Amino acid sequence: MPSAIGTTENKFMPPSHCQCGQLIFFENAQCLKCQSPVGICPSCWNLTSLKPASSSADEGIVCLHQGCGVKLRICQNQRLHGFCNCLVESSESNEAFCVFCRLNEMIPDLSIPGNLDKWRKLETAKRRTLFGTHQAGFPFGPHQEELQPPLKFSFKSDYSEPVTTGHFQGSITINLREADEVERERARVNLGEPQRTLIGHFRHELGHYYWSLLVENTCVDAFRNLFGDERNPDYASAQQIYYSNGPAYNWSMNYISAYASMHPWEDFAETFNAYLDMRAVLATASFFGLSRVKRMSVKRMVAEYGRIGVIANEMSRDMGLIDLVPTIVNSPVIEKMEFIHDLTKSSP
Ligand SMILES: [Zn+2]
Ligand SMILES: [Zn+2]
Ligand SMILES: [Zn+2]
Ligand SMILES: [Zn+2]
Repeated sequence: MPSAIGTTENKFMPPSHCQCGQLIFFENAQCLKCQSPVGICPSCWNLTSLKPASSSADEGIVCLHQGCGVKLRICQNQRLHGFCNCLVESSESNEAFCVFCRLNEMIPDLSIPGNLDKWRKLETAKRRTLFGTHQAGFPFGPHQEELQPPLKFSFKSDYSEPVTTGHFQGSITINLREADEVERERARVNLGEPQRTLIGHFRHELGHYYWSLLVENTCVDAFRNLFGDERNPDYASAQQIYYSNGPAYNWSMNYISAYASMHPWEDFAETFNAYLDMRAVLATASFFGLSRVKRMSVKRMVAEYGRIGVIANEMSRDMGLIDLVPTIVNSPVIEKMEFIHDLTKSSP
């Protein structure tokens, strides 16, 4: 959690090192050099080396992160499908799933060819997003069920009825189609979005979730001062206006994206998404020595993000890829990001 007013330690979602010194990445379940198991420890909340417990009878695993040593076992989704590198604490004897996988209310029909692969991509993006969201100071973790509303995920495909990706009362629904690269690229071009990614979907929908958890009943007046009154026009009317007239004129002066100009809820979710993008890029830059600033205000983060963004974008263009950082953050958006940043200080 941030400890100094207005600044935060830039620790978000960096890679880590195995006990043998090899770099390990967030998706790894095994070190590529020494072959030892690696994964996310839910007790010390690190991506770390692991070792099988000495008593082979219980098939336990021990976290090797300095000072942790907690006993763990693998998540059921790793055992059955091989796609989850987060562990379960052995003391949680009733839990088959890790802290990420246990949030699932509905998983795809795995008898349909291709669904397992799409679900794997979604879970990988979900894990990375939630880990970083927690590192940024937003409440998530083993005691998630105590939060109201508790966070839940449903992964659905629209075979029998159309499925809309969205958030409702703590439950985030993701259309499985988003994990199909061709479909996602088609939607990205058709909707005129500079980027459309699985991680972006999770960050956006989590923005709606954290609005209901941290804003709605605590600081909604301060929210309305910055983002506008979400009651007028109401969401359905705002949506109708947006889809018939297009985005607000000059939207880029006040909003992070065209879609953000549709309604204050979407503005909050889009700004939340961009804030987490920024935190992730800065943490990685810091880990690899591209940025030396450890503690930053939001203004400072935005300036540093702009500096690194220019370098990253030029590298993307060198390779003929789309820009890594398409975002231009103007003063009104910085104020909105400061509001989001401050929510981490009051979160339960
Ligand atoms: Zn290793
Ligand atoms: Zn640990
Ligand atoms: Zn899991
Ligand atoms: Zn939304």
